[in-house]
Amino acid sequence: MTIASVDRTIRLISTGETTGSTCTPDLAVDPWYFDAKAPGYGPGSSMGDVIPTGSPRQGELPAKYRTASNGELGDWIRAAKATLGERVVVLGHFYQREEVLQHADFVGDSFQLAVATQSRPDAEAIVFCGVHFMAETADLLSRPEQAVILPNLAAGCSMADMADIDSVTECWEQLEELYGTEPDADGRVPVIPVTYMNSSAALKGFCGEHGGIVCTSSNAETVLEWAFERGQRVLFFPDQHLGRNTAKAMGVPLERMPMWNPRKPLGGNTESELENSQVILWHGFCSVHRRFTVDQIAAARSEHPGVRVIVHPECPMAVVDAADEYGSTDYIAKAIAAAPAGSTFAIGTEINLVQRLAAEYPQHTIFCLDPVVCPCSTMYRIHSGYLAWVLEALVGGDGVPAEVLNRITVADDVAGHARVALERMLAAKPPAAGPVAPVVVGA
Ligand code: SF4
Repeated sequence: MTIASVDRTIRLISTGETTGSTCTPDLAVDPWYFDAKAPGYGPGSSMGDVIPTGSPRQGELPAKYRTASNGELGDWIRAAKATLGERVVVLGHFYQREEVLQHADFVGDSFQLAVATQSRPDAEAIVFCGVHFMAETADLLSRPEQAVILPNLAAGCSMADMADIDSVTECWEQLEELYGTEPDADGRVPVIPVTYMNSSAALKGFCGEHGGIVCTSSNAETVLEWAFERGQRVLFFPDQHLGRNTAKAMGVPLERMPMWNPRKPLGGNTESELENSQVILWHGFCSVHRRFTVDQIAAARSEHPGVRVIVHPECPMAVVDAADEYGSTDYIAKAIAAAPAGSTFAIGTEINLVQRLAAEYPQHTIFCLDPVVCPCSTMYRIHSGYLAWVLEALVGGDGVPAEVLNRITVADDVAGHARVALERMLAAKPPAAGPVAPVVVGA
């Protein structure tokens, strides 16, 4: 069976067996090389971003898993899962490589997967094939006895890491000094903090503690409405593009959306710009979605007349404006599923999802807007070698205590506030879609 493997495409390009290009030849290097020898996020779209000091680092993957073939790793994973049975649940994000995703019990976006943890309350271990902030959210929403395990600790998120708790706290203190803390005549406080799901648990906790809330890419407008009812303005972090695209669609003028650069006093703004603001945008972005351009859309329209261009709201505003539609990964998947056979789509989101959708819907023509193959480098840190390693360790194969193996836990003093911010989001309006079952794609 052939699967919709980006990894395979990359290797074929690297050996010249197929045409195409990748953003770096390092993509053909196994990810464990970067755990030990190369600082940074590893090969892919976010490898140019600076990894924060103190980010968790993965120890050396045992040689058995580094030298095994994909076939052997797949056999070991299936055998370990069969032994563990209901004791373990494996979650896989849409952007995960196919060799890993085929072993997931649930596939979805970060929020869908966090919700999925609650559907298996009896599982002792939740193995999260995604990135660090997602595993934290799963820990917040699962039972305390359940262990959430991230197969490679180096799978962070460069966007989430662009807003850290110290910088946001410093920003908040400057804003409080400028605005004060008193509500206006309508009872609205000067500023409400809103964090995208793609952020650390510490920032979700900050929002919970300061009257704020969490949003996802599928409910950002609902959440901003919630915030505008309670505050005169919003501090939105870490993704400037999701904040700008959503607020613009709600009618907020661009001149009332200053950007906050944490390295500058008042974020690089004047007092009057901040006084006049309605949404203060943190200087963060996703390196995967920042690659999409208006020129790529023009080229797609020229080469494929009638093409439907759908992009993710983490893309820059000019790209969203030039597209036909924009929406979350769930929106994109549903739009393709609902389209009449023979439709053509140019999609602006991570290549693993696009390639999977193209294989899943052969009745359509589906391609990635970016012709260069460049997956999310942090998602790419999870390889089936790490998944086999943690699952066999849970079985007891290498003697590592199962309860501590790459376990992600959120400290109690953060967790309480973070859950408040998540519960506010759920009360504002829960995202419509639940987790979806895995799809095995044959070709
Ligand atoms: S695609 Fe972007 S936001 Fe998602 S994990 Fe990768 S870097 Fe983070």
